[in-house]
Amino acid sequence: MEWAERSMPVLRAIRERFTATRPLQGRRVAACLQVTAETAGLIATLVAGGAEVTLAASNPLSTQDDTAAALVEEYGVGVFARAGVSLDTYYQHINAALDIGPDLVLDEGCDLVNTLHTSRTELLDQVRGGTEATTTGVIRLHQMARERVLRFPMVAVNDTPTKRMFDNRYGTGQSTLDGLMRATNIMLAGRTIVIAGYGACGTGLAERARGMGAQVVITEIDPVKALDATLQGYRVMPMSEAAAIGDVFITVTGSRDVLRAEHFAVMKDGALLANSGHFDVEIDVAALASMAVERRTWIRHQVDEYVLPDGRRLILLAEGRLVNLGVADGHPAAVMDMACANQALTVAWLAERLPLKNDHGSGAQERPELEPRVHPVPTEIDTEVARLKLDSMKIKIDTPTPAQEEYLRSWRLGTQ
Ligand code: NAD
Ligand code: SAH
Repeated sequence: MEWAERSMPVLRAIRERFTATRPLQGRRVAACLQVTAETAGLIATLVAGGAEVTLAASNPLSTQDDTAAALVEEYGVGVFARAGVSLDTYYQHINAALDIGPDLVLDEGCDLVNTLHTSRTELLDQVRGGTEATTTGVIRLHQMARERVLRFPMVAVNDTPTKRMFDNRYGTGQSTLDGLMRATNIMLAGRTIVIAGYGACGTGLAERARGMGAQVVITEIDPVKALDATLQGYRVMPMSEAAAIGDVFITVTGSRDVLRAEHFAVMKDGALLANSGHFDVEIDVAALASMAVERRTWIRHQVDEYVLPDGRRLILLAEGRLVNLGVADGHPAAVMDMACANQALTVAWLAERLPLKNDHGSGAQERPELEPRVHPVPTEIDTEVARLKLDSMKIKIDTPTPAQEEYLRSWRLGTQ
């Protein structure tokens, strides 16, 4: 945790501010996030701000058990997480974190908010709002809002530029290849890597794979993204064609069954399959298991080999769950710095906008209530995170002159 903190100067600055101003005094916060050293820095920041916090894992494989223990021991946080739990235990943990009776929530993938709206509805009235940290979670929240079932406002931290442009792109790009290499020690140069999905994660992953000398193939369903990938110089084709030529397949789409039986049927012997997108649904693992005549688990961490009737071996990493968190340590702290800073500042902003229902002393109550839908991170927060990050890197930028500001505001001047 100390090692991670060294690369998280923005979060450190926010923690110092929170220690002095206590913006979360008296607030109860339940979080469902990857339990890593970087998340620990975020949780410690919320505690420094005065909150009582519980934390459940947002992934059954990714928990760093030593970090979970340290958060309990040294910060008094109720942590409900252990690496490699069953799905039942995973949801028991989310329920245990919710037992705190939160008035603010932090989610990542929407499992906690989903649990609140389905099996823990008795807690809904006291929840004032929350944050969502990943693309898939935001998509689900929009759907809940559309169906008018979302009961409190949620802020889409994922969508703010200082999160998505850096975490999803550079973070996923680096940590996914890290997971792939830790699991297999594969040489990427000269291999054909098929990346399904050319969104924020896919672009970062493709750039980094190309940088390692791999031949990158992109599959997409969006014509604009497919065109972009083509003009970036990647080969673009449907998965039905890519399946036969790939050495490594990585899914980052947020969708399900992107790799399925018809693809496994034509893949090369020894093909590696990994997901770095969403839960364990992007690769149809059940179909792979039912096609296989044998399954061998290698001594290396999270490497399962499925032997098909014709003798071909397909190798699945991290059980089809996120390879960067299941095998490696997730994104580097330097990029999580911005994701965590956005979450900390947004939770404080929500606490100010949404005081506890029995708190009558605060002027904030005079502001209009936030509606129960998906809200953007306020631009000031995004800009502040970028400014603090640049400051920490000792990078300075220009400021517009008064004449430039005037020019950018006006429409009267044409060609001169
Ligand atoms: P995005 O919406 O920017 O990109 C997803 C892309 O996948 C889109 O371009 C979409 O057109 C494409 N796509 C959808 N279905 C497809 C299919 N069947 N075949 C090929 N392409 C398809 O989303 P993103 O921000 O890149 O996130 C992608 C996923 O990764 C989400 O589930 C997100 O929650 C997750 N994520 C993971 C990490 C991590 O640490 N591994 C980090 C951030 C986000
Ligand atoms: N909960 C779902 C969706 C996760 S998307 C699942 O596990 O399948 C992955 C999320 O993990 C992203 O929002 C990203 O910000 C976060 N993440 C990546 N590396 C991390 C790290 N080192 N510590 C904490 N969170 C991390």
